Amino acid sequence: MNKPDPKMVPMREQDPSERRNNFKEVPYGYSLDEAICEAKRCLQCKKPLCIDGCPVGIDIPGFIDLIAKGDLKGSIKKMKETNSLPAICGRVCPQEEQCQKVCILSKMGEPVGIGRLERFIADWEAEQTNREAPRKVASSGKKVAVVGGGPAGLTVAGELAKLGHKVKIFEALHKMGGVLIYGIPEFRLPKKVVEREVEYIKSLGVEVVTSFVVGKLETVDELLNEFDAVFIGSGAGLPWFMDLPGENSNGIYSANEYLTRVNLMKAYKFPEYDTPIIKGKHVAVIGGGNVAMDSVRTALRLGAEEARIIYRRSRKEMPAREEEIHHAEEEGVIFEFLTLPIAYHADEKGWVKDMECLRMDLGEPDTSGRRRPVPIEGSNFKLPVDLVVVAIGNSPNPLIPSTTSGLEIGRKGNIVVDTDTGKTSKKGVFAGGDIATGAATVILAMGAGKAAALAIDQYLETGKW
Ligand SMILES: Cc1cc2nc3c(=O)[nH]c(=O)nc-3n(C[C@H](O)[C@H](O)[C@H](O)COP(=O)(O)OP(=O)(O)OC[C@H]3O[C@@H](n4cnc5c(N)ncnc54)[C@H](O)[C@@H]3O)c2cc1C
Ligand code: SF4
Repeated sequence: MNKPDPKMVPMREQDPSERRNNFKEVPYGYSLDEAICEAKRCLQCKKPLCIDGCPVGIDIPGFIDLIAKGDLKGSIKKMKETNSLPAICGRVCPQEEQCQKVCILSKMGEPVGIGRLERFIADWEAEQTNREAPRKVASSGKKVAVVGGGPAGLTVAGELAKLGHKVKIFEALHKMGGVLIYGIPEFRLPKKVVEREVEYIKSLGVEVVTSFVVGKLETVDELLNEFDAVFIGSGAGLPWFMDLPGENSNGIYSANEYLTRVNLMKAYKFPEYDTPIIKGKHVAVIGGGNVAMDSVRTALRLGAEEARIIYRRSRKEMPAREEEIHHAEEEGVIFEFLTLPIAYHADEKGWVKDMECLRMDLGEPDTSGRRRPVPIEGSNFKLPVDLVVVAIGNSPNPLIPSTTSGLEIGRKGNIVVDTDTGKTSKKGVFAGGDIATGAATVILAMGAGKAAALAIDQYLETGKW
C-alpha cells in the first residue's frame, strides 16, 4: 500500500468576508471525489483506536471503507447501525478530541477526516429519493415516555423504537432538537439538517408531542401511570450570570436568550419573522466556549462593527472547538484574552454603555488543570459596549428535578444517575445528557441515550430494578 497523504483533503468553505454577512453554512462539505480520496487515506487498522474514541462506538473503518469502495448505500447503512444522527455529529462533534485524536494517522500528519466523511455520507443519503424505509419490528407492547427532544431524548427514543417499544417524546418548545435547534446557529448547523434527522427518528415509529412542558402540564409521576418507563433528557437550559453591578441593564442578554431569539425565533429574518433583537454595534461576549463563539459570530452577522470575546484566560485554555475559534478569527472577531468584566455602566435610560474590566495574569493550575487567572491590581479599563452577551455556562433545567418525587439531585442541580445505565434513584425513571452531566456535548448526550435505551429495554423485559 502507498503511504497515505499526510494531509486531510481540505473542505471548501465560504469566504470569511462574505460569510460574516450571512447565516449560510460555512463549510460546503466534500464532493464524491473528495470523499473517496479522503476515505482512501484510512489504513483500515486491525485494532482501530478511532472506534474506542467514539462515545457511540461507530464502526469507523467499516463505514469509511465502503465510501472508499463507492458503496455509499452500504456505508450509510453501516453508520445507522450505531448512530441515528450522523449529519449532526459530522458537523458539531468535537472529533479532534475524540475519534480523530487517536487516529493512527495523527502520528504521521493529519488524522483521517472522520467527521467530514460522516457528514458527507449523511448528506449524500438526504439527496436520494429512493431511501430505504427502516425495517418494521414486532411491538413489545411496552410504552416509554421521553422528556426532551434534544440529542439525548432523540437517541434513546430511536433506539427503543428499533427494539419494538412504543415511544412518545414530550418537548417543551414548539420545535424538536433541543440545543441543536435553539442554540447552535444556522451557519454551523442548518436547521433543515436537524429537521431531517428528527424526521428519521419519527420514521422509526416514535411519536412526538411539542409545546408540552413536563412538570407543568403533567408531572413525571403522572407519566408513570401511563408509561412503563420514563427517560428524562431535559438538558441544561438555565443560564448563569456573573452577578456583577449593573448586570441588569438593558442590552445585556444571556447567550440562551440571544441565540434562541435568533435561531429558533428567526430574529435574523426580522421583519419577516416578528422577533425583536438588539443589534449592537459594539458587542462584547463573555466566555470562551462554543456558546460564546456562536454568540459572537451571530453578533457579527447581525451587523456589529466590533464583536469582542472577553475571556479571562488565554487562547490556549479556551474550551471552544479549535475550528470555531479559527472561523471566528477569520471573520474578524476581536479577542480580549486575560480580561475579566467587573461592572457594567448604563446611560440615563438604563441601557448599557460600557463595561469595566480588569487585566489578568495566569497563576498555578487550578482543579480543572488549567492555569488559574489572577487579577492584576490597578489594571482597570473601560470598553464602550451597547450589547453584551453572557456565555459563561448553564445549569441543568430545574423544573423536572423540583416536581418529581424521590429523585436524587446532585449539588449542581443535576439528576444523579448510574452512568452505565442512566438509572435514577426512582424506579422506572432514567435520565441522561446535560441534565445528568451538566452542559457537555452532543455525542456524550447521545452516548448516554444509547446506554439508557439498553438498560430500559432490559428493565421492560425483566421488571428488575
Ligand atoms: C450555543 C451552543 C453551542 C454548542 N455547540 C456544541 C458543539 O459544537 N458540539 C457539541 O458537541 N456540543 C455543543 N453544545 C452542547 C450540546 O448542544 C449539548 O451538550 C447537547 O445538546 C445536550 O443534549 P441534551 O439532549 O441533554 O439536551 P438539550 O439539547 O438541551 O435538549 C433538552 C430538551 O429538553 C427540553 N425540555 C427541557 N425541560 C423540559 C420539560 N420540562 N418538558 C419537556 N421538555 C423539556 C428542552 O426544550 C430541550 O429541547 C453547544 C451548546 C450550546 C448551548
Ligand atoms: S485509526 Fe484512523 S487510520 Fe485507523 S481505522 Fe481508524 S480512521 Fe482509519
